[in-house]
Amino acid sequence: MEGPPTVTGNRALMLEEPLIFELAGTTTTGVDLPQSAAGGSNRLGGFERSEPIGLPGLSEPETVRHYTRLSRQNYAIDLGLFPLGSCTMKHNPRLNEKVARLPGFADCHPLAPTQTVQGALGVIHELGEWLKSLTGMPAVAMSPKAGAHGELCGILAIRAALEARGDARKVVLCPESAHGTNPATAAFAGYEVEDIPANADGRVDFDALEARLGPDIAAVMITNPNTCGLFERDFRRIADAVHAAGGLVYCDGANFNAIVGRVRPGDLGVDAMHINLHKTFSTPHGGGGPGSGPVVFSEALAPFAPLPFVEQLEDGSFHLVEEETAQEHHASTFGRMTAFHGQMGMFTRALAYILSHGADGLKQVAEDAVLNANYILRSLEDVLAAPFAHSGHCMHEALFGDEGFGGGLTTLDLAKGLIDEGFHPMTMYFPLVVHGAMLVEPTETESKASLDQFITALRSVAQRAKAGDQTLKSAPHYAPRRRLDETQAARKPVLAWQDPPATSQAPAGTPSRSERGGR
Ligand SMILES: *Cc1c(COP(=O)(O)O)cnc(C)c1O
Repeated sequence: MEGPPTVTGNRALMLEEPLIFELAGTTTTGVDLPQSAAGGSNRLGGFERSEPIGLPGLSEPETVRHYTRLSRQNYAIDLGLFPLGSCTMKHNPRLNEKVARLPGFADCHPLAPTQTVQGALGVIHELGEWLKSLTGMPAVAMSPKAGAHGELCGILAIRAALEARGDARKVVLCPESAHGTNPATAAFAGYEVEDIPANADGRVDFDALEARLGPDIAAVMITNPNTCGLFERDFRRIADAVHAAGGLVYCDGANFNAIVGRVRPGDLGVDAMHINLHKTFSTPHGGGGPGSGPVVFSEALAPFAPLPFVEQLEDGSFHLVEEETAQEHHASTFGRMTAFHGQMGMFTRALAYILSHGADGLKQVAEDAVLNANYILRSLEDVLAAPFAHSGHCMHEALFGDEGFGGGLTTLDLAKGLIDEGFHPMTMYFPLVVHGAMLVEPTETESKASLDQFITALRSVAQRAKAGDQTLKSAPHYAPRRRLDETQAARKPVLAWQDPPATSQAPAGTPSRSERGGR
């Protein structure tokens, strides 16, 4: 389908776009600023800038076009099914966006006197109450800014609780299938990390875990449903055994979408769990600045939860508790995770999502997410190895492996082939317990027609991978930049644009991208 080359490099509506520094020099400016009066004084005390600022000088329309053109080369949840497993890339309802943009929420300042932002504090409080009842946990910290940040918050509370009883436990146990953030969090908080093996079903090996428990184990960190897409049926037994051995239980709640409204982690013996609002509660990933990863706590950990938090006073008004006080219930706080109270834009969106679904709607979210994932698993298990298909129904994500691929083809080649079919690839090579893992999460809002289209595309690419079709080796064929050297990009990233050396004058005519220097 290669046509003749075009002089512009554009392909119909697919527009080429150079780097912003290549579009505009750094010596021009896109805005007119009034000349400061000659000899006029300023209050910079001699710190005036003496050199050009070095930013590209584009006008407003040029700037808008540049970023709009780049955005068209992106894949997004608003364009199509986004099968990234573990990440729950779900539709962001437009109602949430409308609510988040109400000026009373969008424009309030974190240092505004609390009596002027009672409504905003009320939103934080009400969302916190929902998270507590949905998880069956008595306390919540709203300030952490992401799942990984929430993990750190939970582990710091666990550390504070252990220190408070003079217990110098050193080891945190994580299953082999854990998300990389779990061991990283434990190590960051000063713990040694040890693996818990999985059994043949893809779940935590209870006997191996129990055998390792002892006076040196501070906590376990277990994802439920786990990253193999399976519910940890022994969770209650695990939690009881860990507690009996004097340890604490951290649950990675990133997969809460599969069980929200159906299972309360508090009933399973969890002491701390983060909730990724951008996964389960439909807020955009990273939209409007940092995300939000509230953490719920058990009775045992509640006294150690971080500041600040919102408290409702007897007269119904809201108060932001900023300082430790002698009062029993927040005297032992481990400190702060962030400067302020958390991400207001995410709180308003998440609460709008919860209230528009209601308790019954949230339960249906989990059921539909699980149904859609099982539809994908059962529709593809004849062409793709499905290592845990024998372990029962999957939860909200389906896990495949690369067994049976021919001609030296790998999961990476299949994923690149999927790009040619117009889909963002699934999560690859995670979890580590499956060779060439492919973790597919459709989420609950995909229609059957959209699932069928994805299944048709993945089935076709999977059949080509099994047949050893070597054209997959050079896929994607239709993406603007073809296949990139991802190892080089990760190991030797070029993050700053440099002016090309003055000697390498651009030849007449439009230089090709590779000829443009300084990248
Ligand atoms: C997404 C995810 C995390 C980390 O959450 P972030 O919000 O991306 O920091 C941790 N564990 C699991 C299983 C996840 O899927």
